[in-house]
Amino acid sequence: MERGKLMRLINLAGRLCLQVDGGAVDVEAASAGRFSADPQRVYAQWDAFYRWAQSVDTNGQVTPFRREELLAPVPAPKQTFAIGLNYAAHAEESGFVKPAEPVVFTKFPSSLTGPVSEVVLPAGGSVDWEVELVVVIGRGGREIPIANAWDHVAGVTVGQDISERVRQHSGPAPQFSLAKSHQGFSPTGPAVVTLDEISGIEDLEIGADIDGEAVQRGRTSQLIFSIPDLIAHLSRIVELYPGDLIFTGTPAGVGAGMTPPRFLQHGERLRSFIEGIGELEQVFVDARTEKEPCEQPFPASVGD
Ligand code: ZN
Repeated sequence: MERGKLMRLINLAGRLCLQVDGGAVDVEAASAGRFSADPQRVYAQWDAFYRWAQSVDTNGQVTPFRREELLAPVPAPKQTFAIGLNYAAHAEESGFVKPAEPVVFTKFPSSLTGPVSEVVLPAGGSVDWEVELVVVIGRGGREIPIANAWDHVAGVTVGQDISERVRQHSGPAPQFSLAKSHQGFSPTGPAVVTLDEISGIEDLEIGADIDGEAVQRGRTSQLIFSIPDLIAHLSRIVELYPGDLIFTGTPAGVGAGMTPPRFLQHGERLRSFIEGIGELEQVFVDARTEKEPCEQPFPASVGD
C-alpha cells in the first residue's frame, strides 16, 4: 500500500485516539462514528482507517493526556506470536546457535498491559527482561510472500517479553509460553507507530535500562529473521488476522546471559525503548506474602 505521513495510535483509557502535538484526538468523535472507539477493531478496517486518518483535520479536537492513562495500544489480539533467539548475539549468550528457522511461541493476550505499569514478581521465580520490536498486523492473510509482507503491517510498537526463567526451563520441554505470560508480563506501547514513506524501521536502536544502567543495546538491523521473513514464515502455517501481534525477539543483554545471572528485584525500574517509537516503564514488586497465621479468624476450639 502507499505510505503517507507517520501516525501514532494510542489507547487512552480504553478509547482509540490519534496522538498529535499537544495531546490526543478521539477517533470515534473525530470520524463522527465511522470508526469505533474500540482500539482493537480498527485493524479490521485498516486501509479505510489509514486513508481517513491521513487527511483528518484535528484542529480543535486535541485534549492533553498523561502517559499513565495509556493502555495497551492493541489490547485484544486474536493471536500474539513471539520469536525466540532472533538476534545472533542473544542466541549466543543463551547458549544456542543461530536457528535455521524462526523459534515461535505465544505470549497469551491476558498478559498484555500498557506502557507504564507495576509488575508483580512471581514468588520463587527468576524474572528477566527482553525488549522487543512488536509488529501489528493490518491486513491478514495466508501465504503472504516476502515481497508483499510490509503491506500487511499496520505499524510497530515497543514490547517487553518479560520472562520467568525457572518455569521457562523446567520440566521435560521448555515452557516458553506460560513462563512469559504471567499477569503484566507483556507491556506494550506507548503507541502503534505507522510506517511512513521513508520509514527507517529496519535499522533503529533498541535497548533497555534498569534504574538508569544500560543492560540491553542493539539495532533492529541485527534481526536474523526480518519482519517480512517472519510474516511469510508464520503465514505459511497459520492465518494472520488484523490486529495480531508479533514480538520479534530481543537483542543481547538479558539477565540470564550475565555472569553471574541477574534477575529483576523488588523496587527496580525497567525502561525499554526503541528509537523513534517510544518507551515503556515498568516497576517490579514482590508478590505480597501470605499473612502470617498470627490471628485465628475463629476461636480455635470451634468444631474440635
Ligand atoms: Zn523474547
